[in-house]
Amino acid sequence: MSSVIAFVGLGHMGGPMAARLVRAGHRVLGYDLVPSLLAAAAETGVEAAASAEEAASGADVVITMLPAGRHVLALYRDQGLLAAARPGTLFVDCSTIDVADARAAHEAAFAAGHRALDAPVSGGVVGAEAGTLTFIAGGDEEAFARAEPLLGAMGRKAVHCGAAGAGQAAKICNNMILGISMIAVSEAFVLGESLGLSHQALFDVASTASGQCWALSVNCPVPGPVPGSPANRDYRPGFAASLMAKDLALAANAARAGEVDTALGLRAAAMFTEFAQGPGAGEDFSAIVRAVRGRSGQATDRTGSTT
Ligand code: NAD
Repeated sequence: MSSVIAFVGLGHMGGPMAARLVRAGHRVLGYDLVPSLLAAAAETGVEAAASAEEAASGADVVITMLPAGRHVLALYRDQGLLAAARPGTLFVDCSTIDVADARAAHEAAFAAGHRALDAPVSGGVVGAEAGTLTFIAGGDEEAFARAEPLLGAMGRKAVHCGAAGAGQAAKICNNMILGISMIAVSEAFVLGESLGLSHQALFDVASTASGQCWALSVNCPVPGPVPGSPANRDYRPGFAASLMAKDLALAANAARAGEVDTALGLRAAAMFTEFAQGPGAGEDFSAIVRAVRGRSGQATDRTGSTT
């Protein structure tokens, strides 16, 4: 069934996601603060609205894809997006935001007479363009069931993780595993280098043994063993180090709030934040291997690999 969808935030992710909804036969009213992004979206069939509130006023579903929780809450509460929508509108926030902010967004939507779903994504810009994203959702059954056909038009998989905020919770827990494991894999390669071990030999062992993980076998941080990994294209993202730093900071916030001892998660957050603000700006997160190598003094690569 075709829906009228307001799509707010037409950036790297939101632009291609909105385009996929148009292609699936929905009427999409789009808005972004940046006029050039609105113009680019219009070329894909999105109807440009004059404001987020204007887009929301005629919509069945309002999807937001914004940088952070403060943008979502400001739009929902202060800028009157909730007030502008018809009662019973479904608000789906696909941004990656703080779990507490996601719960506050749900509460605000409910208080205004609407339904809500947090549905952050995994899969990056490539997944948004190809329609292969995974949605990691939190909210009640009814909201998930209403959103599912739309999520299916933008992605390949949608997992309902539980009540309000559960999508954000699952996303940051997963990305905390990923951030820590990328550092672990990077440290192992740099240690191997100092021991004269070739990258390929370590990969051949670890990728078929107990060290196996996505950071090693798909996004391998050294060039060679996995030809498609960002290390082979001078660490062009992929998944930007800045986004990993952001997600680890969200995990650290949640751990502090819940008084959970995530010692490695906190260390990973600090390492990626420093890296993303310095040499890793604009690079894939797997380039953290360079930071590990750089801090390792004389422990240079004795394997002859050029990395
Ligand atoms: P982006 O900065 O490219 O897009 C965000 C857009 O929101 C911008 O175009 C900005 O102008 C717009 N915006 C901000 N405030 C607004 C407002 N009040 N009204 C209208 N528009 C507004 O960011 P992105 O890369 O598309 O990421 C969006 C979200 O998706 C983030 O939460 C990010 O963490 C998450 N995410 C990104 C990726 C990725 O690979 N880029 C992957 C997974 C998740």
